[in-house]
Amino acid sequence: MTRIAVIGAAGRMGRELCRAVLDDPECTLVGGVVEPGDPSIGADLGTLSGAGEAGVFATEEPPEEADVHIEFTSPEATVAHLAYGKPVVIGTTGLSAEQTEEVEAAGERTAVVLAPNMSVGVNVLREVVSEVSRKLGPAYDIEVVETHHRHKKDAPSGTAIFLGRAAAEGRGQVFEEVAVHGREGVAPRREGEIGVHALRGGAVVGEHRIVFYSEGEEVEVVHRALSRRTFADGAVRAAKFAASAEPGFYSMADVLR
Ligand code: NAD
Repeated sequence: MTRIAVIGAAGRMGRELCRAVLDDPECTLVGGVVEPGDPSIGADLGTLSGAGEAGVFATEEPPEEADVHIEFTSPEATVAHLAYGKPVVIGTTGLSAEQTEEVEAAGERTAVVLAPNMSVGVNVLREVVSEVSRKLGPAYDIEVVETHHRHKKDAPSGTAIFLGRAAAEGRGQVFEEVAVHGREGVAPRREGEIGVHALRGGAVVGEHRIVFYSEGEEVEVVHRALSRRTFADGAVRAAKFAASAEPGFYSMADVLR
């Protein structure tokens, strides 16, 4: 049995994560951490997540007995929570380079899995995008277009950067050197650049399109998340991995291998 505490339990992902842990016969939900002052402090995590009564309640601190934490909050909270020193699966996106370094450094002391997208599909797609980019070569123009619900805090999404980086690496480029975010004031298109575009609206769980254009054709690779449950199930799988892994900094590719 893997004993899991969900950090950010009252959030959109947090509630889905509590449900996924409660549904998994190999896991026990031992706690759910919410922001100080959150009205759901003391609420039953099963009720909060729509899974029925669980007899485990939302608190401001994780319980000692957790083997592993799953963290979907904000970049600031994620970095602060590294001090817990427990194995942790981090799904939070929008981390700065410095914050990412702090997360990586925590991997020297405990197992840390960091992935901007926990779905199996996106992680398989990473290889596909890299391979398509390699085979089509530098003559094709690449555009990454992502769409998310209106509440999403970061743009572009961590997944757009993840897949854009795969496209860049596939043809021997460094993503940060060729990425152009939006196209305002950048015209005409420069050779070799990768355009990254974010759309925000409604309740879209997450769509990513990587489009390769030549003069004569268009090749499109698409991923659509149909439910947050796909991320939650991936995170629970990563938590089982992290609970028994050696200290280290891991990606979803390590979990799925
Ligand atoms: P959300 O705003 O609905 O939830 C975030 C929750 O974190 C809120 O309830 C907030 O109160 C809580 N929180 C903030 N600081 C906290 C603290 N110090 N302690 C405890 N809780 C705290 O957002 P969301 O849609 O659930 O997304 C959360 C994060 O997960 C975002 O960064 C999002 O981009 C990311 N995400 C990642 C994946 C993935 O597969 N890796 C998938 C979906 C979303």
